[in-house]
Amino acid sequence: MDFFTLASSSAANCAFVKAGDTAVLLDAGLSALNIEKTLSEQGENAAKLAAILITHEHTDHIAGAARLAQKFGVPVYASPKTWAALPFADELPRSLKRDFSYDLRIGDITFDFCKTSHDATQPVGMVLEAEGKRLAYVTDTGTVTRGMLHSLHDLDGLVVEANHDRQMLMQGPYAPFLKRRVLGDKGHLANVQTARLVAYLLGQKVCPVMLAHLSETNNTPEVAYQTVLPAVAGFCAHPDKLLSVAPAHGVSVRWSL
Ligand SMILES: [Zn+2]
Ligand SMILES: [Zn+2]
Repeated sequence: MDFFTLASSSAANCAFVKAGDTAVLLDAGLSALNIEKTLSEQGENAAKLAAILITHEHTDHIAGAARLAQKFGVPVYASPKTWAALPFADELPRSLKRDFSYDLRIGDITFDFCKTSHDATQPVGMVLEAEGKRLAYVTDTGTVTRGMLHSLHDLDGLVVEANHDRQMLMQGPYAPFLKRRVLGDKGHLANVQTARLVAYLLGQKVCPVMLAHLSETNNTPEVAYQTVLPAVAGFCAHPDKLLSVAPAHGVSVRWSL
């Protein structure tokens, strides 16, 4: 199973997964043109996408979804309540609108969804399974939920939010209400929360970890990396080989799990 992100921050999120003949996007928060161009630069073809899966309705996850879906006839998948909140729901033909379902399978990939804790209607994280490998993709959650703990096991790759450094957020330029939102149970994971979750999950099984959805205002790649590194170092001799940070702009390292 191949994985890379095309963009990852509080401004835009989009990731690519391919297993066998099946390629999908997880979120589409870049413009359709940008996604098409970036995929092409990576030797991939937007016209061959089997699906676009949307974690929740916030703009940083959906900006290019409708245009891309219409241009290439790619179906968009989201949870039922998310569909009710998606601004482009009425633009898409019925044939391109699909619901997440229990035990969803798209081509060679099966999907397990877990509830996240976020100020959206029905936000989810997901675990993708293909070719005997399990990849988790979880961002936009203020807490580590029971559902996440239930779904995130036996992982071969973990993509997880490390949104902010609490001190940078508190001392930063955000308005007080925004600081409360980010810090709240329905906001975003702080680096220290991510570190705790990573330590817990790697204690079960060691796997590569990619930090995602970093705030460009309240975090830096270096601060996030250094906060989570000790959690990884507890389980392997070369933690720098397992831990990476998804860049806000441009593609991440490409995993072949
Ligand atoms: Zn987001
Ligand atoms: Zn969000």
